[in-house]
Formats: sequence, structure tokens, C-alpha cells
Amino acid sequence: QCPWGAPNTTSISCSLADVMSEQLAKELQLEEENAAFPEVVAAAEGPFITGEDIDTSSDLMLAQMLQMEFDREYDAQLRREEKKINGDSKVSISFENYRKVHPYDSDSSEDEVDWQDTRHDPYRADKPTTTPRKGFIGKGKDITTKHDEVVCGRKNTARMENFAPEFQVGDGIGMDLKLSNQVFNALKQHAYSEERRSARLHEKKEHSTAEKAVDPKTRLLLYKMVNAGMLETITGCISTGKESVVFHAYGGKSAAEDKVIPPECAIKVFKTTLNEFKNRDKYIKDDYRFKDRFSKLNPRKIIRMWAEKEMHNLTRMQHAGIPCPQVVILKKHVLVMSFIGQDQVPAPKLKDVTLNSEDMKKAYYQILNMMQQLYKECNLVHADLSEYNMLWHDGKVWLIDVSQSVEPTHPHGLEFLFRDCRNVSQFFQKGGVAEALNERELFNAVSGLTITADNEVDFQAEIEALEKMNEDHVQNHGKKLSMFSSDGDPPICDE
Ligand code: ADP
Ligand code: MN
Repeated sequence: QCPWGAPNTTSISCSLADVMSEQLAKELQLEEENAAFPEVVAAAEGPFITGEDIDTSSDLMLAQMLQMEFDREYDAQLRREEKKINGDSKVSISFENYRKVHPYDSDSSEDEVDWQDTRHDPYRADKPTTTPRKGFIGKGKDITTKHDEVVCGRKNTARMENFAPEFQVGDGIGMDLKLSNQVFNALKQHAYSEERRSARLHEKKEHSTAEKAVDPKTRLLLYKMVNAGMLETITGCISTGKESVVFHAYGGKSAAEDKVIPPECAIKVFKTTLNEFKNRDKYIKDDYRFKDRFSKLNPRKIIRMWAEKEMHNLTRMQHAGIPCPQVVILKKHVLVMSFIGQDQVPAPKLKDVTLNSEDMKKAYYQILNMMQQLYKECNLVHADLSEYNMLWHDGKVWLIDVSQSVEPTHPHGLEFLFRDCRNVSQFFQKGGVAEALNERELFNAVSGLTITADNEVDFQAEIEALEKMNEDHVQNHGKKLSMFSSDGDPPICDE
């Protein structure tokens, strides 16, 4: 004999209709929840692209990833067949043209990627879908219409369950409560407005986190780089700024044999909202290199232009031998470059290191030298030079963040240079470098100009006068030739 007695085998009778309506209620609830809480695309934190452990919360992305996986398998099979057919034969047949995955560079990506798009989330249903209801149940003389008060009241009570989950309906659902249509409708109205309110709040929260990391399309772009083998792993985020997010990654193998991908890379993802783009457009709008193109561009193209500009400027600096990140690849608004630092630890900014007086002095002279090289050999003014954009690595200073750099003949180029000089000379004078030139001396030393004004205001005025002269000159003698094609920059990898 079992001490707990015989198990109760009588099954609880339950009609199909009950099950169905329970299911329907669940479905409806789910639908409403989905409408109120669109799928959250988790912000990327820590390692998020390793080839397996990636975010799969969007169907589009999932589908694209699967397709890529499939293509790779297809190619692997193709390679095996190619090998089998050719064997040791001296003459071989190439299956190259039948491959699905092509080297990353040739991938002409179809989709636009930009940050404005995050305002419209393609995975969110625009409004909750309504299920058509017949308005009556039963057959023949047993028909009950939705106007039957008791049934209707109970139904209304039950339907409160479909309100958003955080909407407090009390515990009336368990009781035999009959809500009149009027009350129910009033409640429903209230529930929906609450729901919209919380959806709005939710949206705000979601978008602020999404902006900190990257949007799904950018992630797909990064995933493609990993998938193509160009990057080994993207380990995590180094910096999230107003205008960019920077990630660390371990380099992989390049499709092109002559190109070596550095063991560690920094990935700079440009994200510029409309507002910031307005603040910054003076750098690009007046840059004659971009003049022809600027007017025709939409914001997302301009974001890409920042990335493009950084690439060109870094390349010029590289040619002049200035310590700076080396460009690996540019893809839309994503720039991959060599990582300054080691073992995932980025080199500290000059503002964050404490250098002994000897190193400080060394750093100063190096920067003086770099500024001159930048001006004379690269024909560039950094335009955001400060202890924030200089890294201390391997016993020397490295320049970074040159997307806003302009040529000295830019309508505000000399003003930018003067500001750079002020930052540099203040930093080193405060840092105890007695030899540090003051901002005006530094300006002359870098530009080779001989502005004699001995106070800031007059100096500035002379700078502006020079800029004006240069502008008039450009106006009268036509636009300068674009240097884009002649300065040996790498090709832009899309479009
Ligand atoms: P922002 O426009 O956001 O200031 P930066 O290019 O200055 O963009 O990059 C932000 C931060 O990311 C830098 O201060 C630096 O710490 C880090 N960083 C950027 N590029 C590299 C790189 N190539 N190697 C190491 N760290 C980098
Ligand atoms: Mn910076």
C-alpha cells in the first residue's frame, strides 16, 4: 500500500472551447505585449561578435547571417570538388566564379546604414493588429450576440486581461464580475493611453542605449567583417563618444595577399545625429575637397564622409611618417585601423598619463615636430588637437581622431590651427615644460607665417584677415584642383 494513497486519476473535464478561448486570450495578450514592447535589440556590451555568440533578435539579421553561413559552407564544398577534379594535374580548372562569398572588398553592400534609421524600428508593428470578431457565438436559437448583458459583462471582464501587463486591473478577473460596455470602454481607453505612454518611455530608453552601442545594421556590417575572416573577434567597446563608438578587435586574415591586417585593430563607427552634424558641418562644408559633393548629400552620406575623411587624413599622415593608426579598411561609416595599445588595453591619452619631466619635454618637441609635418607635408591642420586626442604609446605620442582635420587653406583653417596651438602650448606650459612656446610663437613656428601681433586679439584678427584674403583669392582664381586623386589615398571601398 502506498502511504500517500492512490493517485487521483480523474481528469478534470475541460471543454475544447475553454482551451481555445484560453489560447486565444494568450495570443491576444502576446500580440498586445508585442505591440507595446517592440523587440529590444540589446545594446552591445562586452564581447558580442565572436561568430557564434551574436545577437539574433532580429529576423532580418538572423536570415542574413544564416545565408552567409550557408554560402560559406557552399564554398567549402566547392573548394573540395575543385581540388578533387584538379588533383595533381598541371592544368587546373578554377571554380572561383561559382563561389558565393567574395572577398570582403568587392562586396557592394546594398543597404544603407545610418543612425537616423534607428528612429524607425523596422521590427516594430505600427499598430496592434485587430482580430476580426464575428460578434456572436452559437447556432440557431442558441445564438448569443455580443449584446447579451451577462455574457458580455463577463467577457469584458475577461478581456481586461488583454490590457498591457503593467496596467493594474485589480483582481476582478478571478471574480464573476460583469463590466458594462461603457465601463469597459472607458477602462480600455485608459489602458491604451497608458500603454502608449509606456511605449514612448520604453522607446526613449531603448534608443538611448542603442545609440551608445551600434544599430543592427552596423552590427551586421561588423559581423560581415568577422565572417569574411578579416577580423578574428570583436572584443568590446573602448570608447563611446558623441560622434563615434570605438571597438577593439583582433585582426584576421586579409583577402588580398599583399595586405597584412594588424594583430589588433580599432574599429571606429561614426554616428552623427542630425544635430551634431549641424555643429560640425563647418569643417566639411567649407572644405573645397568636398565642396562639389556636399550639396548633393543627405545626412547619412555625410556621416560616411567623416569616415572617409579620417581615412584620407590618416593615410596622408602615414605617408609623412607621423605616428598614427594605420588604415585597414573603410566600409561605409565604419573605419578599421590599427590599434594603438596592447592586449586590448588602449594607450592612455596624454591627459591621463603622468610623464616625468624628461618625457614631457620629449613629448613636447615631438608634437611640435608633428604639427609642422602635418602642416607642411600633409597639408593638414588637425583642428581638434589636444591632450585628449594624443595617445602615449611606446615612449612616443600618437595622433588620432583626424576626421575633422582640414587643409590650411580651409576658410577657417588658420583659426583651427591657432586653437590647436593654444591647447598644446597651454598643456605643456602647465605641465612644466619651460621651453614650450606660447600659442602665438607656436602658430608661427608651425605655419611658417610671421604674424607679429603680441596679443591674442590682434593675432586672431590678423589670422582672420589672412583667411579672408585667401578666400578672395580662391573666389577670383577659381576653385583649386582636388587633391583627392593625387595623394595616393587608398580606394574607397563602397560605391
Ligand atoms: P571621438 O571623435 O569619439 O573623440 P576618437 O577617434 O578620439 O573619437 O576615439 C575615441 C577614443 O577611442 C580615443 O580617445 C581613444 O581612447 C580610443 N581610440 C580611438 N582610436 C584608437 C586606436 N586606433 N587605438 C587605440 N585606441 C583608440
Ligand atoms: Mn577624440
